[in-house]
Amino acid sequence: MDLTSPKTIRQLKEKYGFRFAKGLGQNFLTDPGVLDQMVEGSGIGGDDLVIEIGPGIGTLTDAAASAAGRVAAIEVDDRLLPILAETLADHDNVEIISGDVLKLDLGELIRSQEQDRGFPREDGAVRILGNLPYYITTPILMKLLEEEVPARTITVMMQKEVADRIEAQPGSKAYGALSVAVQYHCKVSRIVTVPKEVFMPRPKVDSAVLLLEMRDEKAVRVQDQERFFACVRAGFGQRRKTLINAVTGSGRWTKEEVRAALAAAEIDENRRAETLTLEEFGRLADALPAAKEA
Ligand code: SAM
Repeated sequence: MDLTSPKTIRQLKEKYGFRFAKGLGQNFLTDPGVLDQMVEGSGIGGDDLVIEIGPGIGTLTDAAASAAGRVAAIEVDDRLLPILAETLADHDNVEIISGDVLKLDLGELIRSQEQDRGFPREDGAVRILGNLPYYITTPILMKLLEEEVPARTITVMMQKEVADRIEAQPGSKAYGALSVAVQYHCKVSRIVTVPKEVFMPRPKVDSAVLLLEMRDEKAVRVQDQERFFACVRAGFGQRRKTLINAVTGSGRWTKEEVRAALAAAEIDENRRAETLTLEEFGRLADALPAAKEA
């Protein structure tokens, strides 16, 4: 069964009385070339465990299951379960997990796959894959990164504009807290930009697939990760203000503390957050006082 064919999607919809739920970001991919690029670009191999987010009717799941040792796919819409049972019937290495990815304990899911199913094998890796529901792209990414889910790669399709923000470099308009957060944890590269015409139903915006390779060592070494991200959030919280005013505006540090830290880090207090490299944010965060004991 060619799951990327609009005819197949229509037939499945009819057979199961399924209607797309717009609120769940259900835009199904109809371009087989993009599936291959996602699977090959991730480097998925036979020893790997793939955790897929949002299998839909199983299009990407099917491609991943042919390359991976095992696939566990998390789907929130239970109406898709009977469809997935039919479309993935030929694979004995796929498990559908019914649930909301934002509420699941992914560390526990990976541990149970290792213990009960033996994947990833010793030479394999955990790889996260998904054509993400766009309404929750950022919360999903932040969950994966903040919980330090033990994956080697995260290959995800998202709205092109969000991909642009993640890849953005200092000095550009798109550069912000999301760019810093993802680049701190991962090496970022773009696999492909995908036009809106190859989805059913067609979304309003184009998409892009990013490959995020988890860094063994973070992009910048900081004394305290929590303080680093508090400083980044403060800086971008009021991005049109100068650094000294933006960081002071967060209420966590006094103006004198911020001024002293900027001087110690040798950063001009009149610069704006969007011009700071990760390394400069790291220097500034390290120079700011630690949180006071309550
Ligand atoms: N993988 C399919 C494809 O490429 O055609 C479908 C991708 S579609 C953009 C996003 C999928 O994520 C839908 O199947 C939707 O039901 C599911 N989804 C939405 N919110 C979710 C959540 N919180 N947890 C898990 N899956 C979710």
